[in-house]
Amino acid sequence: MAKISLLFRTFITFIVTLCIPHVTYAQASVSVDIVIDQPQHHYAQVIINFAAFASEQANFHLPTWRTGRYEIINLANGIREFTATDSQGNKLDWQKSDKDTWQVQGTLNKKISISYQVYANQLGQRTRHIDDSHAYIDASTVVMYSDIGRDQEHIVNLHVPATWNSVSGLESGDNAHQFIAKNYDVLVDSPIETGINEHHKFSVDDHDYELVIWGKGNYDSTKMVTDLKQLVQQSQHIWQGYPFKRYVFMVHATSGARGATEHLNSTIIQTSRFKFAQRKDYLRFISTAAHEFVHTWNVKQYRPKGLVPYNYQQENYSTLLWLSEGSTSYLQNQLLLRGDLMSSKEFLESLAKRITGYIHKPGRESQTVAQASFDKWLDEGGDYGNNHSVNIYSEGFLVSWLLDFSIMEKTALEKSYRDVHNTLYQHYKIPESFDENDLLTILKDITHDDYQSWWQENIHGYVNVDFNDLLAKAGLTMLYGEKGKTKQKAWTGIETKPITNGLQITRVEKNSPAWKAGLALSDIIVAVNGLRMADNDLTTRLKNFKPKDRMSVTFFRRDELVTRMIILGEIPKSKLKIVPLEEASDDQKAFFKYWTGLEFPAK
Ligand SMILES: [Zn+2]
Repeated sequence: MAKISLLFRTFITFIVTLCIPHVTYAQASVSVDIVIDQPQHHYAQVIINFAAFASEQANFHLPTWRTGRYEIINLANGIREFTATDSQGNKLDWQKSDKDTWQVQGTLNKKISISYQVYANQLGQRTRHIDDSHAYIDASTVVMYSDIGRDQEHIVNLHVPATWNSVSGLESGDNAHQFIAKNYDVLVDSPIETGINEHHKFSVDDHDYELVIWGKGNYDSTKMVTDLKQLVQQSQHIWQGYPFKRYVFMVHATSGARGATEHLNSTIIQTSRFKFAQRKDYLRFISTAAHEFVHTWNVKQYRPKGLVPYNYQQENYSTLLWLSEGSTSYLQNQLLLRGDLMSSKEFLESLAKRITGYIHKPGRESQTVAQASFDKWLDEGGDYGNNHSVNIYSEGFLVSWLLDFSIMEKTALEKSYRDVHNTLYQHYKIPESFDENDLLTILKDITHDDYQSWWQENIHGYVNVDFNDLLAKAGLTMLYGEKGKTKQKAWTGIETKPITNGLQITRVEKNSPAWKAGLALSDIIVAVNGLRMADNDLTTRLKNFKPKDRMSVTFFRRDELVTRMIILGEIPKSKLKIVPLEEASDDQKAFFKYWTGLEFPAK
């Protein structure tokens, strides 16, 4: 390794100090060299050559957030050893003007080369991660841009260990580790996975796909390819046409990271390495793939005003992020159901889970989906979030569902919410964007009805869903578990996690018995009715109580011992189920079929 390292260092010194102009490329292009010679230490050296500047001073920025994650994440914290040189090799003066901007002096009429070290050790955020087996590079976290260079072609050269394989949604260049981006926006929306990986290619409907997997795990890549083939073609039930010729599914089978991010013609999905084999785990994986694939249209092709073009240096505000995320969650089911990748039983179970989540979210009376969208950049989640916020994903799903059924009803099953999305794709493609008025116009065109009051009620009002009424349209109804079977009757309203000295409270539902008794987040419960919680199992102890019983709870709050009396409530029934109505009408069955693409389920 020392020998390779030395070689790369010589290479860096060579290109930085001698500053060989990139004569092989057109003038108006930016060349980016990413040298990974110490992967075990998570370092990359980045050298970027820009065409001549027309100003005495040039600004180089690293974004302060990355696409797909609406949150300021301070990406400049891993940048060191910044230098700027002209084409003669002269070092130029620079200073930082804010946390993400390097200001270089003396740039007039000069081609400039900047160089810096990046520390890349953020696996879970899907930003930048380098280790001795791979590198994942979201360029917005690694590659700086200048105000003049954002629209120019970027040519990326990776200098990585010889055994590594490089994959990206970007166009390939002259060699296996060179990629070309039309401009900086394309570059930052096309992550690169390079390293030791499994790589599969397949074609569907005259479009090319790749699946690249980094990490060992209990996955079956043959099955993944079969199912992804099935998934991708279902997109044509929603949109007419594909916005790409080639698409890449990147998968990290790893530990301690879970989540996924959409990009222009690729996605990165992170899953625990042993969460692929069981059906519920696999369903989560394929649902995530469906979600990210929907984003290829919804967000990557059409996006609300406020996010077009992206401003990488600050928050990008919109009241429509519920449509970007919640509708994506809603439409992912359309792909899964129509592609036979999720059964109607699994679909109804997932709906029941969503309804249960909504019922236990007091925040639905504190925030609208428009407000949650605008304030997504402040998103805290956790106990306060659950009690006082809605979520652009889960409540965004619910309003998408309401809107879908409303359109289907008004047009007598001629049109659906899918038509809204296809219209957005056909007529509001980036660089266009859409706002709430555009959506109202589209809804009017599709249904010949005015949606102003619906919009005020559901988007700018607190979401209030009558689920029985909604489900009945599709011949379904809700039930609570099997008749008369409830495991536990008394209810506190808290969620806990075991820690060394007791049970720590992680959530207190607003207005629940525990909330009224004054229990709070982070309290550590040690005893119930004066007896130590030796087994840390509150559920077992609760079986000795009935609703309306008084239960004394002793806990540590900031190391002080406190006792409070909870008057127990009634457990909100057992597990919610959604089932077909006994005597669903033909109209209801037709509604179900138009909605899901599936035959009405047998009981
Ligand atoms: Zn999403």
